[in-house]
Amino acid sequence: MEFFADLHVHVGQAKKHPVKITASKSLTLSNIFDFCLNKKGLDIVGIVDCASPYVLEEISEQLEIGEVTPLAGGGLRYKDRLTIVLGAEIETTENRGAAHSIAFFPYYEQMKEFSAIISEYITNISLSSQKARLCAKDLFKKVQSLGGELIPAHVFTPFKSFYGNCYDRLSLAFEDKLDGIAAVELGLSADTHFADTINELSTKTFLSNSDAHSLEKIAREYNKMKLRFPDFKHIFSALRCKDDNFIMANYGLSPKLGKYHRTFCPACNYIAGKTPPVTKCPICNNEAVTLGVLDRITLIADFETPVHPRHRPSYNYHIPLEFIPGIGKKTIEKLLSYFGTEMNVIHNANMKQLTEIVGNHRAENIILAREGKLDLKVGGGGFYGKVLK
Ligand SMILES: [Zn+2]
Ligand SMILES: [Zn+2]
Repeated sequence: MEFFADLHVHVGQAKKHPVKITASKSLTLSNIFDFCLNKKGLDIVGIVDCASPYVLEEISEQLEIGEVTPLAGGGLRYKDRLTIVLGAEIETTENRGAAHSIAFFPYYEQMKEFSAIISEYITNISLSSQKARLCAKDLFKKVQSLGGELIPAHVFTPFKSFYGNCYDRLSLAFEDKLDGIAAVELGLSADTHFADTINELSTKTFLSNSDAHSLEKIAREYNKMKLRFPDFKHIFSALRCKDDNFIMANYGLSPKLGKYHRTFCPACNYIAGKTPPVTKCPICNNEAVTLGVLDRITLIADFETPVHPRHRPSYNYHIPLEFIPGIGKKTIEKLLSYFGTEMNVIHNANMKQLTEIVGNHRAENIILAREGKLDLKVGGGGFYGKVLK
């Protein structure tokens, strides 16, 4: 069976306490579950702030009243339609900086045990993505000993990622443990074509997740998985291409729309347009630029052009409704009330149906977005790219 999965969603608030300070307050567990199911049309969601005792407490209550139920193969089930994977995004301390990884666990008990263990290395365990006083390899060993899985997060972003600011190779971080990593998350500013210029990634599965800090941003990137059953065990079998479970396709923003696609000079507000790598500002010669993901990958690539391994699925560019010109909150609501979920609007609704609901111009833009035919202005330095009108 086919399932849509987004494995990187944050929690803004739990038990009326802030969890991710920069995230929206409406990003509560119940709202996330409801939104994934009824607005976005997701089948699997990974919650990455479950090491917070407030989140754990809320999940424990939901388990008690039967709002969610544990699956034998790991993960929780909501309304028998949505699978929840418990995880925690952790910032590790590396030689040259800090990097994010997500630790996933099959069962509530292990998640709770991990929270207790990792809290000895973190100053404030109730908050999201906190810096831990240990390196990625040591984190990996702790996660593995509890039966969990570790996924390096948004691996190319210029801040807080393995390739972005810590290492030229993932093997320098994980050494002999690299084989135990099933997949890496690409991040918004990268795609399969960039990542397959790095040889050591050829055996890894690529995940495209949203890293959502608000409800609306859930599923701005996602994965289509073929699974025999939507539980933890089969999801990670898919990440290892085992037993007929695999990722069928990645859906992500065009990297141009990502916040860190090209090099950015804060002094001139300049975003690089020239052939990568651009490592200093061509206007003011500033070398203190924010290196773009494309520029960074070009610097460290093994291959000039991507070499895709046989198991690599297609990477489909997808433009969330909120990025499409002329489509505001009201129009989105109208579309959802008619077509049910955003997945349905983006993938299935035809021109005639769309025109009836939102008029010819907007319908055309939705179809052009689906076909990848809208013109894009590139992002950099923390500014998203834009769809041009
Ligand atoms: Zn992160
Ligand atoms: Zn995150």
